[in-house]
Amino acid sequence: MRFIDFYQQGSFVHSFEVFPPKTPQGIDSLFNVLKELCSTNPAFVSVTYGAMGSSRDLTSDLAIRIHRELNIPTAFHFTCVGSDRNEIGQYVSHLKEEGINLVVALRGDVPKDQINFTPPLDGFHYANELVAYIRSINGFSMAVAGYPEKHIEAPNQRTDLENLKRKVDAGADIVITQMFFDNEDYFDFVDRARIIGIEVPIIPGIMPILSVQQIDRISDPVGASIPEDLHAALMEHQNDPGAMREIGIAHALGQCRELKERGAPGVHFYILNKAYSVKSLLSAL
Ligand code: FAD
Repeated sequence: MRFIDFYQQGSFVHSFEVFPPKTPQGIDSLFNVLKELCSTNPAFVSVTYGAMGSSRDLTSDLAIRIHRELNIPTAFHFTCVGSDRNEIGQYVSHLKEEGINLVVALRGDVPKDQINFTPPLDGFHYANELVAYIRSINGFSMAVAGYPEKHIEAPNQRTDLENLKRKVDAGADIVITQMFFDNEDYFDFVDRARIIGIEVPIIPGIMPILSVQQIDRISDPVGASIPEDLHAALMEHQNDPGAMREIGIAHALGQCRELKERGAPGVHFYILNKAYSVKSLLSAL
């Protein structure tokens, strides 16, 4: 199976990103969420990989369980942080033996004790090197990360886009974007990507905001800006979690409707392991 197979001309498919919970109760609750979301017919579910490789086994165990028990195409995220070439080879080959060959290949965030990322001995510095290595093992399909507003470490958008092209040229089948809250950032990014010769599907990453407090925690660190009117609406209801959640859903729904109308290939939802927002959004869509 390849990522590209999900994005046939004219379809508008959705997929979900989940993170591996640390407790058995958390995993049970995630399975309930996923069972509920299966009814929306997602193209695939992807399982994140913890910072510093902290969730190595949790990620692989969860991906295998989702694949076996829910029978949804499953992708696992993998980063350059904390693994050398040999360990990477073993990890991805183990998942392939379990029938999972979809990889979201990333560099990973810089560990807190480093200013610039220092790759492990015999490891990789940038995601394009990881993509090339996994490609050389054969039998995998890869997605890579793209940044409509630019990656926080990149000096400018042009350089960042050239680095994205290295990942695609190394063998990535699709790009999944960082979350964004203004669709113009996405459409502009796609236009610029096409001009420099990136031709693969670019899947918008959408996160329905749950609260104003979440902005500091999640959107700020990844450099995703919040439109003023959305921020103001959330601030106005900052003591009302239900109202903030509905504002987040309405905003994400507006984004999805426009993305669909203007020809985006689908949408990848950052669901934060919760069903409600995305389920009501999808039924409205
Ligand atoms: P790269 O593509 O390697 O880019 C990193 C920086 O280096 C960029 O500024 C880029 O412009 C520059 N660069 C890239 N290649 C070169 C080169 N050859 N020479 C010079 N400069 C270069 N993090 C996790 O830890 N776990 C996850 O599961 C996870 N999932 C994610 C899923 C998505 C869809 C997205 C968008 C992000 C995810 N992240 C995850 C976050 C990601 O790891 C960070 O954003 C990280 O800082 C960069 O990863 P990357 O793969 O984009 O890196």
